[in-house]
Amino acid sequence: VRLTELNPRWVGKGGEGVFRTNAQGELEPAPRREGVGIIMACPCRGADCPSLYVPFDRPLDGGPPIDAHNWTRTGDTFETLSLTPSIQRIGGCGWHGFITNGEVIKA
Ligand SMILES: [Zn+2]
Repeated sequence: VRLTELNPRWVGKGGEGVFRTNAQGELEPAPRREGVGIIMACPCRGADCPSLYVPFDRPLDGGPPIDAHNWTRTGDTFETLSLTPSIQRIGGCGWHGFITNGEVIKA
C-alpha cells in the first residue's frame, strides 16, 4: 500500500503555550518543531488499531531528534519517504514491515 493511502501527517512539537523542564528543573518555552516524525493509520488497516507514530533521526526542520529512539529517514515527502530499520508494533496487531520510497510493505 502507498503511504499516502494511510492518512499520513508530519508531527510537530512545542510552540506557543508549550513548556518544557530545563536542566535546572525550571519551565521554559519549548521551541516550535516541525516534522519530528510521522503519524499514519496502522498499515494493518484494522479499524480498532491506533495510529502509528514513528520518530525521525533527522527531523524535517533540520533540528535534532526529540525522541531517544529514532528511525533513519530519507526522503522529504510522503511519496519518497524511506525509514530504516523495519517498523514493528509492540503489542496490539504486532504489524511488522518497511516503508521504502513511500511504499508500505509487510515484512
Ligand atoms: Zn494494526
